[in-house]
This record gives sequence, C-alpha cells and structure tokens, in this order.
Amino acid sequence: MKIVFATNNPNKIKEVQAQLPNHIQLVSLETIGCHEDIPETQDTIKGNAIQKAVYIKEHYGYDCFADDTGLEVEALDGAPGVFSARFAGPQRNAEDNMTRLLDDLKSKDNRSAQFKTVIALQFQGKITTFEGICGGEITRNKIGSGGFGYDPVFKPTDYKQTFAELSLLEKSRIGHRGKAVSKLVAYLNMH
Ligand code: IMP
Repeated sequence: MKIVFATNNPNKIKEVQAQLPNHIQLVSLETIGCHEDIPETQDTIKGNAIQKAVYIKEHYGYDCFADDTGLEVEALDGAPGVFSARFAGPQRNAEDNMTRLLDDLKSKDNRSAQFKTVIALQFQGKITTFEGICGGEITRNKIGSGGFGYDPVFKPTDYKQTFAELSLLEKSRIGHRGKAVSKLVAYLNMH
C-alpha cells in the first residue's frame, strides 16, 4: 500500500518511515507535485492535522495522512501547545523556540511537560484521527544533537537522556509520534 504523508519535514518522514511495515510505503509531497506550505490555521493540534489532510485530498486528490504536534508545558498552562512552531516568532526557528522556553521556565521548579501528536488520516472517504502522548520534563539546558525541534530540551519520563540523545528507534518506541503511528498502522492493517 502506498500513502501520502502530508509533511515537508524530512525528520518526520525519517521517523515515521522507520516505524512502518514494509507493505506500507510513504509517498512524499514532492512526488505528488506539492511544493507549497500547507495551511495550518486552526486553534487546536487536532484541527491542524485534519486541515492538512483535507487540504491534500481536495487540492491533489490523494488519500493521505498528516500529523500535527505540540509541546504542552504544565507551568505555562499548556503553552506553547498549538503555537509550538512559532513560540519565539514567525521565523519558526527551533533554537529560538528552545531559548524562549528555557527563559520562560527559568524560575520554575515544575518542569513537567508533554508532547502531543495527532495524526489525521484521510482514507476511503473519511477522516480518522489517532493521538499519541509522551510525558516528561523540560531540562535546564539544551542537551544532545539528534532529533529536531524541542528534542534537546525534553527528557521523557524515566529516561536520563533527552530525545536528542536517544536513537531514532528508541524515540519512536516511546515517543508521541511513534504512539500515534502505531495506532495508524493498526488501523490500516484492518482496512
Ligand atoms: P508541527 O507538528 O510540525 O507543526 O510542529 C510544531 C512544533 O513542534 C515545531 O516547532 C516542531 O519543531 C516541534 N516538534 C514537532 N515534533 C517534534 C518532536 O518530535 N520533537 C521535538 N519537537 C517537535
């Protein structure tokens, strides 16, 4: 089975591809001729995931899935959440975002946070969503060079390392996107 993954983020493609069984092959946006930024203007993570999947179906005609992810920090009342990509401004820069996060939490002892991913699947005429959550805490410094986004400042529960220090496989096994992808694969295997 071939299915379009509606993302321009090569890190996400790498993560998800590594987790899919051989019979499910990802098709990139480039392959279907989509070179634009897909709109994500909703005010929830789930809303954005659905918006992206619907956009690809409507404009390009392909069944597909899209993911949207947010980092929810307890001491910041759930922020940056749906605004995670633009937390430090419209430049959407990961270093700037992490710097702002560490700054905002400087005087806070409560470092609890969670990543939430929602995958929206547009398949056989309907939309189905799958959620994955990974709990953990925000470190006091950036640590590690792997992964992307907020990975160097997020230490999953029961781990001594940040996501940026874990292997791709380990991050997928315990991570938010990995959990949502497992549910997606189970669903596709049944249909
Ligand atoms: P989006 O899902 O691509 O819209 O991501 C929203 C924000 O969360 C961006 O700043 C991403 O870099 C960040 N992000 C998404 N997934 C991850 C992840 O697995 N680890 C760390 N940051 C992530």
